[in-house]
Amino acid sequence: MYNPESLKAEEFISHEEIQETLDYAEKNKENVELIDSIIEKARQLKGLSHREASVLLACEMPDKILEMYNLAEEIKKKFYGNRIVMFAPLYLSNYCINGCTYCPYHGKNKHIARKKLTQEEVAKEVIALQDMGHKRLAIEAGEDPVRNPIEYILECIDTIYSIKHKNGAIRRVNVNIAATTVENYRKLKDAGIGTYILFQETYHKESYEKLHPTGPKHDYAYHTEAMDRAMDGGIDDVGLGVLFGLELYKYEFAGLLMHAEHLEAVHGVGPHTISVPRIKHADDIDPSAFDNSISDDIFAKLCALIRLAVPYTGMIISTRESQQVREKVIRLGVSQISGASRTSVGGYQEEIRPTDTEQFDVSDQRSLDEVVRWLMEMGYIPSFCTACYREGRTGDRFMSLCKSGQIQNCCHPNALMTLKEFLMDYASEDTKAIGEKLIEAELANIPKDKVRDICKDHLEKIEQGIRDFR
Ligand code: SAM
Repeated sequence: MYNPESLKAEEFISHEEIQETLDYAEKNKENVELIDSIIEKARQLKGLSHREASVLLACEMPDKILEMYNLAEEIKKKFYGNRIVMFAPLYLSNYCINGCTYCPYHGKNKHIARKKLTQEEVAKEVIALQDMGHKRLAIEAGEDPVRNPIEYILECIDTIYSIKHKNGAIRRVNVNIAATTVENYRKLKDAGIGTYILFQETYHKESYEKLHPTGPKHDYAYHTEAMDRAMDGGIDDVGLGVLFGLELYKYEFAGLLMHAEHLEAVHGVGPHTISVPRIKHADDIDPSAFDNSISDDIFAKLCALIRLAVPYTGMIISTRESQQVREKVIRLGVSQISGASRTSVGGYQEEIRPTDTEQFDVSDQRSLDEVVRWLMEMGYIPSFCTACYREGRTGDRFMSLCKSGQIQNCCHPNALMTLKEFLMDYASEDTKAIGEKLIEAELANIPKDKVRDICKDHLEKIEQGIRDFR
């Protein structure tokens, strides 16, 4: 039985409801009247239900698809302007007792070296990341209650926040660790984490159980209900995601939106972010075993439709994707990207990218300076801002800011100031020159005179060496 308000995974992600949705979408994929009315609803920024969005996903009419893309771009500009938030993943430990068949860190893989960072090594990784200019991290770890207990994760978070290096500190630590208990989520909340991220991998229960044959992650309900426990533990911001390529994308898309609807129905606030990873080649993984991979065009359509369906939810793309794909989907709705990522444990301290212990192949291998310059050349403002989270504007308070349209008076100046810090402290001469011009031009786009004056004043102070305005 389908019930978005239920706390049972099998009821809020009902298999029958997804099947019915897919049938409904298939039947209506050429129903122009219905498609137009759904696009119109999205235009009014009302978001879309999983059924409505699935009809758009099924639609193959080129003119309608173009309309969807144009609208996604419009919504993206309206809520996120031209800002792109930057972050980097930090792998703490690749010890894992799960059996995920698509992940090289699965417990039975004997080819890769296992490593868990000591606190001294965490500090070195953080300093290497800070030396590039990063202010926002997503920590990653395999699931191993003995080697990576919650106490270890908490100690690492403490170490990360405690390091003051040159002109800065890491200002936001997001956490991507396995599903855990309400009590542990409360501990993470108390440690001051930003978003708790957990990818569902697949919403298809039967496939999920096959893809996770052993270990605690095998339990579909425990994994799928994790965000409810996280919210019960006081975490305001949660990040959803599907690993595209494991199952049929239309199924996953409906499941993902149903999950978002469930969080809204039960907790009064939807997901803070949605990630869109695609399966990549990795050690001990046979890529041909995953034949549900999706083309770049379908991937772009998925990103655009997520933008239409949940206009207030941030969208994250990682370095799994190439520069070319990233360029396309940033335009259609992505609001956060990682840069200069290394997906191996201890990878940031190495002179050369270690390829033998990476979790998956990284497509975009550019430096942070190069990624920042590339974004600016396309007219985007790379933002290192973490102000919302530090001011307590999380969960529904962040959503209200977003819905009130005040983002341009708040996020925009913050983005310019944090970009200025980056340019002063970490950028190459070329990047700095482009950035200074961009900041000058973008000051004019702050609507309120008073806010613009404050921003100008802060930019001057940053020039003189003062940092971290809030
Ligand atoms: N261990 C935690 C868990 O089980 O949720 C999360 C950390 S894991 C390092 C982060 C994510 O990497 C996984 O949730 C999965 O979606 C993704 N991943 C695993 N293998 C991958 C592959 N071959 N290609 C792309 N992404 C992969």
